[in-house]
Amino acid sequence: METKYIFVTGGVVSSLGKGIISSSLACLLKARGYRVTIQKFDPYINIDPGTLNPYEHGECYVTVDGHEADLDLGHYERFTNVPTTRANNVTTGRIYQSVIDKERRGDYLGKTVQIIPHITDEIKRNVKLLGNTGNFDFVITEIGGTVGDIESLPYLESVRQLRWELGQNCVCIHLTYVPYIRAAKELKTKPTQHSVKQLQEVGIQPDILVLRTEHDIPANVRRKIAQFCNVAPDAVIQSIDVPSIYEVPLKMHSQHLDEIVMKKTGVPVEGEPHMAPWLHFLDKMHNAEKSVRIGLVGKYVEFQDAYKSINESLFQAATYNDRRLDLRFIHSEKVTDANVDELLRDLDGVIIAPGFGQRGIEGKFVALKWCREHDVPTFGICLGMQCMVIEFARDVLGLTEANSTEMNPTTPDNVIDLMEEQKSISNMGGTMRLGAYACRLQPDSVAARAYGKTDVKERHRHRFEFNNEYRQRFEDAGMKCVGENPDANLVEVVELPDHRWFVGTQYHPEYSSTVLNPNPLFVDFVKAAIAYRDEREAGDAK
Ligand code: GLN
Repeated sequence: METKYIFVTGGVVSSLGKGIISSSLACLLKARGYRVTIQKFDPYINIDPGTLNPYEHGECYVTVDGHEADLDLGHYERFTNVPTTRANNVTTGRIYQSVIDKERRGDYLGKTVQIIPHITDEIKRNVKLLGNTGNFDFVITEIGGTVGDIESLPYLESVRQLRWELGQNCVCIHLTYVPYIRAAKELKTKPTQHSVKQLQEVGIQPDILVLRTEHDIPANVRRKIAQFCNVAPDAVIQSIDVPSIYEVPLKMHSQHLDEIVMKKTGVPVEGEPHMAPWLHFLDKMHNAEKSVRIGLVGKYVEFQDAYKSINESLFQAATYNDRRLDLRFIHSEKVTDANVDELLRDLDGVIIAPGFGQRGIEGKFVALKWCREHDVPTFGICLGMQCMVIEFARDVLGLTEANSTEMNPTTPDNVIDLMEEQKSISNMGGTMRLGAYACRLQPDSVAARAYGKTDVKERHRHRFEFNNEYRQRFEDAGMKCVGENPDANLVEVVELPDHRWFVGTQYHPEYSSTVLNPNPLFVDFVKAAIAYRDEREAGDAK
């Protein structure tokens, strides 16, 4: 079948969940047996979000091919179980860079280079890149930002043109917000009407409206919106708040979003999507009674999007362990020797978060020492693993000034040091060790047992690494380097085998955890946390 293109735009306000709607639609189409991919076009000028502070746009996600990407790509993968790549996330910066490179090469043959047609042509070329591979039946394109923003205009113009070029192979979904005015007890449709009008002004008539709402939207209000916005009444769908984002695909299916998209693109609608594995997950999620309490120690905890993939991985792992996730965020800057016991003692497991720079680092050491000494299941990820190494060096090896050269370039004991290939790099963007690399695990390690195999591939995003010159000393004192990159002998995983569950990974296992394929390390970590809780509860009962 010819590739179908679905565009998802947003109006009224940001944060409506375009990524979740796109992901839910993709999840349903995939469950109908189609090959689906989702891509995000971000109107900002950064080449990629890799250089952005997490406070700006939340977590930076990493694709298998080493692209630093918008966190929505994490949702795409979690909902579809299909890996994304660099081609799935394009920014205005990338578009302009490519156009300017072409101009410098002389590709435009003396023409004046302009937003229309050159920028829009470049956007259109990128929109169709994945579709042109022949690997996908549906390409869903999410346009970042809100309709009406100056910076999204070239994208909307490209969508307008593509609609004509693609004909029936194209559908536009517009997501808006229907506020509820409590004093008047009324749902208000005017913002939606205005936002659709704004789309129409740039020449786009949406085919489907998805209305984000906190209250059920009655049929008469939907009809009114349909009438004022030139949309078929059955194509006005509500997206009401639900306790978990993983319920959204079912909510969308119950209003036939997948079928409407198929009908509008001329795809015959037969049967139902095969959602059994997804429903199995939701069943577990709904039936979990007991909880598992995990603490996440990091410096961006006020802003939970900063650790999106870790949160979701933990949630999936808890669900598959038949537990509700009780996730506590602990600000690493606030952890001190005086309060650590109070902050951590009720936790079943502790995650030490990834990160960059000195801020909050000392609190991570305090938390780690407490966890190590109290034998609490502990999981260090990237910087968290590096902190495990540093804390162990200081406290067990007696190297009191041990550090990473990221935090102290002149430390006498650089147990974490800049990778050799990083030493000549001065540009910050896209230059870390990025993407999926192989890791060989020792068969008797906790990690190998969790994965059920010794050869794994996980994604990375770092410049610093374990310094192998210290390896023997660590091993002799009980911290084992149980995972290694087979090509470069970089240490990827450390463990304390005489502990319940004390594992640090230089890589980020959270990026590969999906609803249908939860990451085994997270599942095993949560299992250990539950066992630890059960043990304590049994002790208390005695
Ligand atoms: N700052 C550390 C490094 O660059 C860890 C990075 C991370 O946690 N993603 O090596």
